Amino acid sequence: MVVKLQDLDLSAKRVLIRQDLNVPISDGRIRSDSRILASIPTIKTVLEAGAGVILMSHLGRPVEGQPESAFSLAPVADYLSSALDQNVALVKDYLEVIPVVDPGQVVLLENVRFNLGEKANDETLAKRYASFCDVFVMDAFGTAHRAQASTHGVARFSASACAGPLLTMELDALSRALEKPASPTVAVVGGAKVSTKLNVLETLSQRVDVLVPGGGIANTFIAALGFSVGRSLYEPDLVDAAKKLIENTDSGAAQIALPQDVKVAREFDQGAPALVREISKVQQEDFILDVGPKTAESYAKLMHSAGTVVWNGPVGVFEFENFGAGTRALGQAIAESNAFSLAGGGDTLAAVEQYQLAENISYISTGGGAFLEFLEGKELPAVAVLNRVG
Ligand code: AMP
Repeated sequence: MVVKLQDLDLSAKRVLIRQDLNVPISDGRIRSDSRILASIPTIKTVLEAGAGVILMSHLGRPVEGQPESAFSLAPVADYLSSALDQNVALVKDYLEVIPVVDPGQVVLLENVRFNLGEKANDETLAKRYASFCDVFVMDAFGTAHRAQASTHGVARFSASACAGPLLTMELDALSRALEKPASPTVAVVGGAKVSTKLNVLETLSQRVDVLVPGGGIANTFIAALGFSVGRSLYEPDLVDAAKKLIENTDSGAAQIALPQDVKVAREFDQGAPALVREISKVQQEDFILDVGPKTAESYAKLMHSAGTVVWNGPVGVFEFENFGAGTRALGQAIAESNAFSLAGGGDTLAAVEQYQLAENISYISTGGGAFLEFLEGKELPAVAVLNRVG
């Protein structure tokens, strides 16, 4: 069992919280504060329990060992100072001097990715982080699939470690969708390439009733049925893997729902007009860039009859206006459905935002890579380590 924050006595303790404060910043201004807002309740809970708080996070992708002001967490420290109505100092010299916090105080450590050894999960660095605190709280789901010094090593060496409320909430929602799902269960796996999501497709095909491959992934399945995909993105090397998934349906694996019709373009271009074709009628010159109206309608029926829906990846090049209708129809059907719905992954979240679906999706996972690895059934290292310490 993972130890949770509420299981521990935090009074007068020094509590180090790994958060995901990786917000978009340009010209020193925070462009989206949603991750900071999500993190504030955890900070308040720990403060109210009588602890001193040390926060740490990564920001962007600086070159390790080369601090650069563009990747400084200074704007986040300022934001937190106003949001919490108390000074939140940014601490830069924490590799030389141990940061001190009294109960009720909050400090933020400068970007952990400035530190050599962070990504490699260096033991000395992890021990250094661990020395700052009595309790380590892991609350950054989006980084939980990475074993790094600030997500994994620190938990091994700190006196006590636990999962924070945000992490716990993500794990509970994902487990609910995957372990005791209301049936029928439907999984949509869209996006560009089968190769990047083969494990997810294989795992989900053993777990759900209907699997819906979408986008470039569907193109490889269409090729596996023996149809031409013209000039579309598809992966010849993975046609056999797709065939296997289609054939496994006979031995009890998920039914594979493929498009009946598609929208094609003659050029891979933002402004190219969309032409609707049956999947058996795709021409040599065509790029399949979206599903057609019949398929969009069948998606809607499928979603409306589902008990649980897991959604990762668009079913078309939704960045092009003429080829977003399939992803929009799918997303709207998921949002209208009474099913417990779970969406996650970078492009999926962009589509959820673009089509304003967030309010009616049961749970939106903040993790991209972590979400996919959870769907694959992998143990997330930064969560697994919390099972061994406490
Ligand atoms: P992924 O990172 O695998 O989730 O892929 C997301 C990307 O797949 C988006 O940028 C989409 O534009 C792209 N995509 C979706 N459908 C297609 C398609 N039919 N052809 C080419 N790219 C696609």
